[in-house]
Amino acid sequence: MKGIKQMTKKYVYGFSEGNKDQKDLLGGKGANLAEMTNLGLPVPPGFTITTEACRAYLGQGETPETLDVEVTAAIRMVETEMGKKLGNPADPLLMSVRSGAKFSMPGMMETVLNIGLNDDSVHGLAKQSGNERFAWDSYRRLIQMFGKTVMDIDGDLFADALHGLQKRKGYAGDLDMTTQDLQQLVVEYKEIVKTATGVDFPQEPRKQLDMAVEAVFRSWNTDRARLYRRREHIPNSLGTAVNVQTMVFGNMGEGSGTGVCFTRDPSTGHSGVYGDYLENAQGEDVVSGIRNTLSLADLEKIDKKSYDELRAIMDKLEVHYRDMCDIEFTIQRGKLWMLQTRVGKRTASAAFRIADQLVAERLITRDEAVTRVTGDQLTSLLFPQFDRKAEKKLITKGMPASPGAAVGEIVLNNSQAVERTQAGASVILVRSETNPDDLQGMVVASGVLTARGGKTSHAAVVARGMGRCCVVGVDDLVVDEEAGTVYVKSQDTTYHAGDTIAIDGSTGEVFEGKVPVTDSPVKTYIAKGLEAGLEAAGDDDTRELVEAVDHIMTRADDKRELVVRANADTPEDARRAREFGAQGIGLCRTEHMFLGDRRKLIEQVILAKDKSEQEEAFKALVPLQEGDFVGIFDAMDGMTVTVRLIDPPLHEFLPNLTDLSVQLAVKEAKGEKVTAEETELLQKVRQMHEQNPMLGLRGVRLGLKLPGLIKLQVRAIANAAAKLKKQGRDPRPEIMVPLIGSVREMQIVRDMALEIISEVSAETGVELDIPIGNMIELPRAAVTADHIAPESDFFSFGTNDLTQTTWGFSRDDVESSFFDEYFDYSVFGTSPFESIDTHGVGAMVQMGTERGRKANPNIHVGVCGEHGGDPASIHFFAEIGLDYVSCSPFRVPVARLEAGRAAISNESELALERGAERNTTA
Ligand code: ADP
Ligand code: MG
Ligand code: MG
Repeated sequence: MKGIKQMTKKYVYGFSEGNKDQKDLLGGKGANLAEMTNLGLPVPPGFTITTEACRAYLGQGETPETLDVEVTAAIRMVETEMGKKLGNPADPLLMSVRSGAKFSMPGMMETVLNIGLNDDSVHGLAKQSGNERFAWDSYRRLIQMFGKTVMDIDGDLFADALHGLQKRKGYAGDLDMTTQDLQQLVVEYKEIVKTATGVDFPQEPRKQLDMAVEAVFRSWNTDRARLYRRREHIPNSLGTAVNVQTMVFGNMGEGSGTGVCFTRDPSTGHSGVYGDYLENAQGEDVVSGIRNTLSLADLEKIDKKSYDELRAIMDKLEVHYRDMCDIEFTIQRGKLWMLQTRVGKRTASAAFRIADQLVAERLITRDEAVTRVTGDQLTSLLFPQFDRKAEKKLITKGMPASPGAAVGEIVLNNSQAVERTQAGASVILVRSETNPDDLQGMVVASGVLTARGGKTSHAAVVARGMGRCCVVGVDDLVVDEEAGTVYVKSQDTTYHAGDTIAIDGSTGEVFEGKVPVTDSPVKTYIAKGLEAGLEAAGDDDTRELVEAVDHIMTRADDKRELVVRANADTPEDARRAREFGAQGIGLCRTEHMFLGDRRKLIEQVILAKDKSEQEEAFKALVPLQEGDFVGIFDAMDGMTVTVRLIDPPLHEFLPNLTDLSVQLAVKEAKGEKVTAEETELLQKVRQMHEQNPMLGLRGVRLGLKLPGLIKLQVRAIANAAAKLKKQGRDPRPEIMVPLIGSVREMQIVRDMALEIISEVSAETGVELDIPIGNMIELPRAAVTADHIAPESDFFSFGTNDLTQTTWGFSRDDVESSFFDEYFDYSVFGTSPFESIDTHGVGAMVQMGTERGRKANPNIHVGVCGEHGGDPASIHFFAEIGLDYVSCSPFRVPVARLEAGRAAISNESELALERGAERNTTA
C-alpha cells in the first residue's frame, strides 16, 4: 500500500471527480462528461485516464504501473454502480474506449465500442437483452473496430467480408442481416485478425481494454494527428486523455437509436433545434453517413418522451455553458443517455451572430461577446464571395456545410489534390464522403464537395474547423474515383478530374466553370461603414451578420488600449489601411524609392569618383522621393507615418554578381567592347559581396558609411512635410532608424537629421517637428535600451529581425531546412516567425520596453513586424503594455478585434482556447 499512498500523480478520474475547466488534464471530452455528470444529466458511468498518463506512456514506452492499479479500482466502481461485471459471461459489463484530447482532433484514433464481449459473454448479452441479433451485431462491430484501430489491420478486409456476405445473400443493407449471418461474420472476422496479425482476437476483457487504451495513447503520434496539430498550431507535447465509459445501446432494435444535435444552427446561428437521428444504430453510423438520417423533429413523433427530455437538457446545457453546445446522445429502449457535449464548433458568421444573439438574450455581456469571436474568424468573413450578379450555370445543389466561395479543378483524391496544388492550381476535392484519411487533400483544397453525409458528417465538421468552404450531401452526384469522373444525375452530365467547378459553402450551390467573385458585405462594412455594409448584404441573414460584426467591432475598439497602425509603403496601401481602420502607418519602407529608373542613380553613388559626383546623384533623388512622401503623408493626413530609413544592403540595388560577370564574359567572348565603367561596376559589386548580408552592411551602418543617404531621405521627408503644411494639410511624419545597436549610432544619425530638418525649416519658413526614433531588432539594442531611449522619441520592435538575431538563424534558410524536425521535437509549438516566442524574443521586447521607459518616460513603444497582425502575439504585446502594433493593411481589422479581446481580461474559455498553449517552450 505504501507505494500507492506515496504516489504523487493521480492518473484516473471518475466522471464525478472532474469538471469542464480541466481540459488540460482530462481532455475536452472527459472534462465535459464530468461536467454533465455533475449537472445530474444521464451520463453512462465511467472514468477518464489523464493526459499525464499519456505523456508518461509516450515518454517511457509503457503504461505507468500505478495506472494499472487505478484503472482496476475505477472499473470496480463502475461495476458496483451498474451491478454488472466486466467479463461476466452471464451478464457482461461492456465499455467504450474513447480518445479525447484538449482540442478536438479528428486525426486521432476512433472510438472502440463494446469492449468486454467475447465468445462466452456474447451469449450472456443475447440472453440479458433478449435480442440475439443485437448481441452478435455488437460482437462483430467490436472485432471490426478493435481489429482496425487497435490491431492496425486494414479496415477494408472487414468491410469486404461484410459486403461480400451481403452481396451473396442479396441484401440491401446491414439491417437485413440475420443472427446467423452475424455469427458467420464473427467467424470470418476472427480469421481475418488471426491471418493479419498471427494472434487471436483477445478474449480477455481487461486485456481488450488495456490494449485499446494504449492504442489511443499511440494514436497521438500518427502522421495524421501530427499533420492536424501542425495546421492547428496545437503543440505535440500535450498528449490525449482516454475515456472509458459504460456502453449504452442505440442498436437494440425499435425504440433505440442515436443522434447528434446542436442547441442552435451551427451554420447560421439561428436558435432552434438542429440535429440528426438514426434509429436502431450505434454512434459511429450517424457520422459515417452510411444511412440517411432523420431530423430531430422526426424524433418528436417517434419518441416524444425522450425528445422532450433532450430538449430540456439542451436548454439546460446552453444556459450552463452560456454558449451554443453540440451534443451526442443515444436512446436505449426509450431511455435517453448523454454521451458527449462541448461548446460547438461553428462557422465564422455564426460565431458573430451567436455572440450577438446571446447578448440580446442577456446570457452574456457585450464584453464577453467580443471574446467569443476570433481574429481568424473575422479574416474568413473578409474573403471574397461569388458575384451575385454574375451569370452562373447551376449544376446541382447540396447542403451548405462551411461557408465561402471556392473555384477550382475537380480532384478526386489526396494525391491529385497535392499534385495539382503544387503545380499552382486551385482545386476542389470531390468525394463520396470523406474520412480522416482525406485530411491531407482537405488541407490543400480550396473547397470540399461530397455526395453523401449531413451537416455533422466528417467532411462538414473538419471543413468548418479549418474554415474551408464545403458542400455536402449532394445525392445528385456519383463520384467514381477510379474512372476519374463525377456524374451529375439530374443533368445527365459527366465532369472529369481537371474540369473547373465552383461551390458556394453558404448556399450549397455547385456551378460549372469559373464564377467571378466580389467583396464580402463584411468587408464592405469594414471599409465603408455600417450603411454600406447593410446595403451590400442583400438578405436578412447577412444583414444580421453585418450588424453583429458592427456591435462587436465597436466594443472592441472602445475597449482596446493598443493603437493599431499599418505597414504601408505606397499611397494606395495607405488609403486601404485607413479604410480598414488603421490609426497611422507604423512602418513605411523606403526601399522601393530606390528602385526602377532610380537604380541608375544608386549605381552612380557607388561608382562616383569623388564626393561631388556622389552628391549630385543624391541631389537628383531628393525631388523624386519627396514626391513619394507627399503622396503617402497626404493619404494619411492627420495621422502618424513612421518612415524607416533605407534598410537593406546596398548591393541589393546593384546588378547581381553572377549575372553581371556572365554578361560581361559573354560580351568579351563575342568580341564586343566592355567599357571601363562596366568593369568598374563589376569590381565594385564583387567588393561589396557579403557572406552574410543580413548581418552585414545594412540599416544604420549603411547610413553611417554613406551619410548622404540619410541626409537625402531626411531632406525628402522634411520637404514633403513642409510642402503639405503650406497647403494647409496636417502631415505627421516620424523618422525611424533601422538596426540600431548602440546609442552612439543613434546620436550621430539624430544630430544629422535634426540639422537637415532645421535647414529645411529655415528654407521653407515652415516650423517642423519630426520625431526621430529607432527600431529595436538586435539583442544589444534591447539590452541597452536605457542608454538609447534618451536619444530616441520612440522604439519600434522589428520582431522579425529580432527573432532572427535572438535565435541566431536566418528565416529564409531555416524554415525549410529544419523547422519540421523542430516541430516534431516540440522545440516550438508554432513557428516563432508566425507567433512571437514569448519566452525568448518576447522577453527581449519586454526588457527593451521597461528599460527604455525607465530612462525616457515619454518614449512611445510599438511593434512593426508581421507579429503585429498575429492574434496570439497581439495578446502578448497588450499584456506587456506596448502602445501600438503595426501590421499589414488586410490584418488591421483582425488586430483591432484581437486588441479589444486582449483588453477584456475576463476572457471566456473558448476565446482562450488557442493562444495560451501555443508558445514555445522556455
Ligand atoms: P468522436 O471523438 O469521434 O466524437 P466518440 O468518442 O464521441 O468519438 O465516439 C464515437 C461514437 O461512439 C459516438 O457517436 C458515440 O456516440 C459513440 N459512443 C461512444 N461511447 C459510447 C458509449 N459508452 N455507449 C454508446 N455509444 C458510445
Ligand atoms: Mg475522436
Ligand atoms: Mg463524439
